[in-house]
Amino acid sequence: MDHLVTATAAEGTVRIRAAVTTRLVAEARDRHDCAPTASAALGRLMTAAALMGSGLKGARRVALQVAGDGPLRNVVAEAFESGEGIGVRGYALHPDVDLPLAHNGKFNVSGAVGRGVLQVTRTLENGQPYTGIVELTSGEIGDDIAGYYASSEQTPSVVALGVLASPKGILAAGGVIAELMPGAREHTIDALADAAAKLPPVTALVRAGADAPALVRALAANMEPKLLQRLPLRFACRCSRQKVELAIRSLGAATLGEMVREHRSQDVTCDYCGRVYELTSDEVATLASSDGRTRPRPQG
Ligand SMILES: [Zn+2]
Repeated sequence: MDHLVTATAAEGTVRIRAAVTTRLVAEARDRHDCAPTASAALGRLMTAAALMGSGLKGARRVALQVAGDGPLRNVVAEAFESGEGIGVRGYALHPDVDLPLAHNGKFNVSGAVGRGVLQVTRTLENGQPYTGIVELTSGEIGDDIAGYYASSEQTPSVVALGVLASPKGILAAGGVIAELMPGAREHTIDALADAAAKLPPVTALVRAGADAPALVRALAANMEPKLLQRLPLRFACRCSRQKVELAIRSLGAATLGEMVREHRSQDVTCDYCGRVYELTSDEVATLASSDGRTRPRPQG
C-alpha cells in the first residue's frame, strides 16, 4: 500500500516528508498508457504533489503544473484530502513521449520537459487559490520543486524524487522532501546537505523494500528523526457527472442550441483519470433547456 510519513529532525528544525508511490504512479501510467520517460516525469510530479499535499496547513489541495517547451509540453498533478489519507491524480499532455536514456543511465526527463515554468497552486479551505510560479531549474522535477521552495517560500530544502519504469510497468517510485525550518543551526544545514549528498537513489531504496519511515531514516539518521504521522496514499480523481454537466452547460446557449438541433450526443473524457462520461442527445437537450435556470454549483 502506498503511504506517506511526516517527520521532524534536529529538534524540530528540519521538517521531512517521505512517500512510497509505486502503486499510484503505476495506476496513472496504466490509465494514461504512458511511455517510460513520460511515466518518470508524471510519477515524479505526482510524488511531489503527494509530499506537498501532506503539509497543506489550512489548504484544501495542491496542484502542480510543469509547462515546458519540450515534447511533453504539460504535466499536471494534484493532491487533496481523500478519506483518511491523500488522493493524488495527474496526467501528461503527451503520454507517448519516450526519449533515449541520458548519459548517466537515467530517464531524460529534463529533455522531455525542456525549459519553462513550474506553477504551484494551493487552494485554501475557502476555495481561494494561491499560486506561485518559478522558472524550471533543470526540468528534472526534483530540482524544480527545490527551486520553488527556495524562491517562492524562501525555504532551503532537499528534494529527492524517483521513478523506476520499464516498458512493462513501474518498478518503484517514491520521494523525500526535507525543509529547513526557521532557527536551524549552521551545523544542521551542513548535516542536511551532507545527508542529501549521501542519500542513495530513492528508487533503489524502495525497490529493496524500504517503506517511508526507512526513507526518512536513510536521509536523517544522524539528525534524530521523529515520525509524526502516517497517511495512506492512493490514485483518486475529483471528477463527477455533476461537474461534466456543469461544463456542458457552460458552453453557452448558441453552442448548446446547435447541439440540440443536430441531436448530438456528447462524450466527455476526464483528463486526470481517463473516465468517459457519455451524455445522450436527450440528456444534452435537458441540460440545454435548464441552462440559465439552474444555478451552477461551485466547483468542489
Ligand atoms: Zn477523473
